[in-house]
Parts: sequence; C-alpha cells; structure tokens
Amino acid sequence: MNSLDAYKNCTLCPRDCRVDRTKGVLGFCGESSACRVSFLGPHFGEEPSFTGSQGSGTIFFSGCSSQCFFCQNYQISIQHEGRTITPAELLSEVHVLLAKGVHNLNFVTPDHFWPHIQGLCRTLKEEGVSVPLLFNCSGYQKQQMIGAYAEVIDIFLPDFKFAESELAKTSMGDARYPEIALQALREMVRLKGFLEPWDVTGEQTARRGVLVRHLVLPGHIENSLKALRLLHREFGPGLPLSVMGQFRPVPACAKSQKLERSLQTEEYNRVLELVETLGFEKVYTQELKEETTFLPDFQDPDDPFPGNRKK
Ligand code: SF4
Repeated sequence: MNSLDAYKNCTLCPRDCRVDRTKGVLGFCGESSACRVSFLGPHFGEEPSFTGSQGSGTIFFSGCSSQCFFCQNYQISIQHEGRTITPAELLSEVHVLLAKGVHNLNFVTPDHFWPHIQGLCRTLKEEGVSVPLLFNCSGYQKQQMIGAYAEVIDIFLPDFKFAESELAKTSMGDARYPEIALQALREMVRLKGFLEPWDVTGEQTARRGVLVRHLVLPGHIENSLKALRLLHREFGPGLPLSVMGQFRPVPACAKSQKLERSLQTEEYNRVLELVETLGFEKVYTQELKEETTFLPDFQDPDDPFPGNRKK
C-alpha cells in the first residue's frame, strides 16, 4: 500500500487545511487518516454507462471536502456515518465486490482518502484487475492532483455544481468553486478525453474518459444555464453530460427558502431546452418522478438504496 504521509500536513484538496490527520486532527472534510467507508456494493442508480446489467461497484467514503449543506448523501458526507476500514480489509471487500461481476469500481467522494485509494488501485492493477476504476467526485479538486489520479484512474465522473460564485459561497463556503472545478475538469479532459464508448443503453459500459454531472437546483435555474454555457464554451458540444433533476430537500434545507422543495418540471425543462439549443450531443437526462428509489438512507445496514433491492 502507498505511504500515508500525505495525511500529515494535509493539502489533498483546495481547502489546504495543513492539519496532521495522522494525529486525529480533523480538517474541513472532518476525517482523520483512518479510512472510513459507509457502503460497498453493486449500485444500479448510476447512469447506464456505469450500471450496465451487473451494477457499478460503488465504495462510498465517509466525509467530504465540499460540505454542501444540501448534500443528498448528507448522512455520510456531513454526519460522517461509516466504519473504519484497514487497507487490507478494504482490499478484501473490494475482491468480494469484484466477484459479483460489477462493471467498474466506483470510488465515491474519494479525494480526502486519496492515499488509501491510490494504494488500493495500484495493488488492483498489479493483480491484473481489468475493470475500469472510476473517480466519482464533487468537481472541487485540485488541478495539481489530477495527474496523480489519472495514473491509476480510468474514468472521471466529476460534478460541475456551481457556475455562480455566490451560490458556491453560500452552499459550501468557497466562492472559488467555479474556477477550481473548471481547472480540474480541463485537466481531466486533457488526460482522459471524453467518455467512451458512449452507449446510453448500457450494453457497452464505459471504459475511460470524462462525464460531467450537473444537479439542477430548484430556484437556481440561472446557475444551471450559466454552467451549461460555460461547459459548452470550454469543451464544445461533444462533452458528455448528465443533467440531473433528482434533487430532494434534506433536513438542512430548512434554512434555505429555495431548496425546501423538489425541482419543478418547468424548471428542468428550461435547462434541457438550453442543452438542446447548445447542441450537446451526449446527454443523460432523468424522468422527474414524485418518488425516487435512489435517494439513499445510509442508516440502512443492508443497502442504502431502495432501488437496488429490485435487482
Ligand atoms: S482533504 Fe480534508 S484535511 Fe485535507 S485539505 Fe482537504 S478538507 Fe482539509
């Protein structure tokens, strides 16, 4: 396994806390150097390019460097639900996951535990594991870190959450998000290209490249329109996108008038109209439903995603 020294004066993410996590000091992500996971298992709620027929091999890590107050995974990202896992245990549980035939290993919110994940990925590659390794992240990553990720990671699945600095500031406390996320994304695309193969049926699951996710927030449609224009200007219409409308208010949304409700169809349609006008060629969208079977409850010890149980 890789040296865990990077935790000693931690600058793994743009927060640059410089705390010694090996001594149990917590930075903004709220996690020490003890790797913690909340859920490992096949997941059927990702885009078909990752879910395929056998599921995506998700590993959800506790804590998060972004800390958006409306986080749909707040139980693990903000409330830190999860269990400590040693590198050997993590490797062993990943072997079990791979034996289930998942199409990829999907590291969810991995940046603050990167030294552990880097070591794990190197071991898996040495063992000849051939499924794609997927970095599923907030978009709030350091551009300087992307090269190290890309040495072992095959697919980047970053969010692009905020084009508006003010919204970033009030949501996760860093107005720099738009520029930081854009710089990181440029590097991801430069190193890995766009997602391929592109097959929305999921028959051919993705092997490498970048797909950008954008969650449309109720009452913040201008942010989404700006994000789309920005992405189009930077990367052109070939950039693979997943425009998500699945937002649900979590308890902390009580402090925000706009985010106290789900997204309305008219709001989502306005965003999708711009997707079409700009000519984006590779786009996942969602059907808006009253109920969602993939809003997680990480207090469920078996599987936090009700939608997975139907599989
Ligand atoms: S990973 Fe955590 S401790 Fe390290 S810089 Fe980021 S928020 Fe701070």
